[in-house]
Amino acid sequence: MVEAVRTVVVRSERLPRRTFRALVELEGMYRNMVEQLVLYAVDNGITKFTRLKAERYREVRSLYPQLPSHYAYTACQDAAERAHSFLRMRKIGKARKPYPEVRNVSIWLDDRLWRAEGLTSISLATHRGRVRVSVELNKHFLRYVNRGWRLASEARVKLDHKERKLIFYITFKKEVSEYKPKDYVTVDVNEDAEAVLIDGIVYLLETGLSKVTLGYYYRRKRVQEKYDRVYGSGSRPARKIFKGLSNNERALKREIRWKLAALIVREAARRQAAVVLERLGREPANHMIEHVKDPQLRHRVFQAAFKGMQRAIEEKAREYGVPVVYVDPRNTSRVCPIHGAEIVYGRNRHGVCSKGGETWHRDVVACYNLLLRALGGDGGHAPSRMRALVTVDGGPVPLGPTAAHEPTGVPRSLWARWRSLGATSDRKLMRVSA
Ligand SMILES: [Zn+2]
Repeated sequence: MVEAVRTVVVRSERLPRRTFRALVELEGMYRNMVEQLVLYAVDNGITKFTRLKAERYREVRSLYPQLPSHYAYTACQDAAERAHSFLRMRKIGKARKPYPEVRNVSIWLDDRLWRAEGLTSISLATHRGRVRVSVELNKHFLRYVNRGWRLASEARVKLDHKERKLIFYITFKKEVSEYKPKDYVTVDVNEDAEAVLIDGIVYLLETGLSKVTLGYYYRRKRVQEKYDRVYGSGSRPARKIFKGLSNNERALKREIRWKLAALIVREAARRQAAVVLERLGREPANHMIEHVKDPQLRHRVFQAAFKGMQRAIEEKAREYGVPVVYVDPRNTSRVCPIHGAEIVYGRNRHGVCSKGGETWHRDVVACYNLLLRALGGDGGHAPSRMRALVTVDGGPVPLGPTAAHEPTGVPRSLWARWRSLGATSDRKLMRVSA
């Protein structure tokens, strides 16, 4: 059994001043508790909720006796997590301040503190009794409810002071059992595309993720130069534009990753196949982003293109009960999957097998090698069909024709509209030219 978890954002309607004032008071008290708890936790090196609660619960509870007691409880959870991540950052020398700043507060809630009442209202326990707020009906929320996800007892709420609204972060959970794989779908994650091997065809699904990262990076840089000249460095208007750009960047990447992950995982689920991924190390795939010199930028490209994409696939896989298999990524594009001999690459992504003399596209090689490793690795439940086909000596049937050595390139504008890869039966796809 695996557990899939999703967070959905639900906004309340605009609240009456009186009600909102009570919530602002609540937020202030909660923030104060968290601040005190964080200070204590950091001073004493506490990262565990249970210990923090054991040592400080009484203290913070007595600060605000009018407040429902569970806020002191969730404040301990909140503070423990903040202290934990701060101490970890400090350990690796990335903390800039002696204490973590409690700037953004979202109030942690448990089942005593909040309750969904039907689909359109939420009741919240406060120091002034229960407050009931209407929430905007939300497409995402309904989708999870309808698909049998379970509403988790924990939630968070944030105050939108400008709009006088509440923003709820609601968690859904679902237990799914993984099936035993009968087949494999291998995924080779690249900077700007994802190569996917399904039913003997390698699709090269374009993501353009590193282009997105780099594009926004240079746009920010241009904005900065322009505004610094006019307003001086770090000006307010520049910061505002930066924030807008970052939000757009994040949303776009997120959308690309989720859509593609969903497409791949659904195909795997339909075939009862496992998804095969490269096992990413701490700083893997570095050779692929060597051309990016700025270390911070490299980090961002890596996070978006490799880690982010993998995580999206893992998340989706959990939801559908699709098993994920990890294999060693070393030299996956270097060796011919048929002859085991080295492939000599020219200047583009094409190479020639040093034994058989056949031409290969790098991503096709990687996909087949990932598959071979998955088959060899677990000895698994997958049928021997694939193994037999791939390892036939001399003239391997499915890999014989050169067409099989070319991936089918699919631009993002195309796959983004697909529900499944079956849509590829029409051959209007662009072929990656040899
Ligand atoms: Zn070969």
